Amino acid sequence: MQIAWITVLLVLVFMAGCTQRPNQAAETETGTDTPGIQTGSVPVVSPAHWSYEGDTGPEHWGDLNEDFLACKYGTQQSPINIKRSQLTSSDAIQPIEIHYGIAEANIQNNGHTIQVSLKDANPYIMLDGSRFTLAQFHFHHPSEHQINGQNADMELHFVHQSEDGKTAVLGVLINNGAENKAFESIWSSMPAKETEETVELEGTINLASMLPENLHSIRYNGSLTTPSCTEGVSWIVLDNPIEMSQAQIDQFAAIFPDNHRPVQPLGERKVVSE
Ligand SMILES: [Zn+2]
Repeated sequence: MQIAWITVLLVLVFMAGCTQRPNQAAETETGTDTPGIQTGSVPVVSPAHWSYEGDTGPEHWGDLNEDFLACKYGTQQSPINIKRSQLTSSDAIQPIEIHYGIAEANIQNNGHTIQVSLKDANPYIMLDGSRFTLAQFHFHHPSEHQINGQNADMELHFVHQSEDGKTAVLGVLINNGAENKAFESIWSSMPAKETEETVELEGTINLASMLPENLHSIRYNGSLTTPSCTEGVSWIVLDNPIEMSQAQIDQFAAIFPDNHRPVQPLGERKVVSE
């Protein structure tokens, strides 16, 4: 009789052990700065959790995963402080051509930012003779790039990819000012909590209206500003900011009080003004 009870107890303990397992399953991290850029040489392992504060914050990214080593040892990292006195101009540089228009998109809170992914592959830029297609755009609060040591209130990153797998990011600084209608539909459907799946944005968005009138740009070679911090990214930071109202900035800040990586050493790099 006693043995039977012990058996029942053992079975119960075993079952309890089993039911805990799904809760302990590895947490998955979705939404890198650029989708589809990862090389699949390693077996399927969920990427390490990273964040913007504490033990998994920017100063520790390079220690969290061997795929994140560039965050620690890279010499061409982003963002940077753009000092106007250090800008060089080059006749060889052609103005960037931006072919944005109306687009349909999906929106997601990926736990690191609000990301809007384009449904069709029509919007693109021409950079030094190469075509880069817009894949997604997302926001940082406060800005990641600095101009003369100053952060803007926010920064918008348009992430593009070329057919041969190169990345070009167009950064637009956002300052406190007038309400910006171009972001109305995104702001009204912005998920406050992390979402597993993307949500379809109602209607269309007008990408061109998200840019300042003057498209004069500053260029340098850098990296993704989120792990894996992969280098070889062509950065285009627009000289002129756009505006958003304090209420618009506050709405984003309530979800992401701080989702910016601090500026990184410029090193030997040149920053060129168009
Ligand atoms: Zn970004």
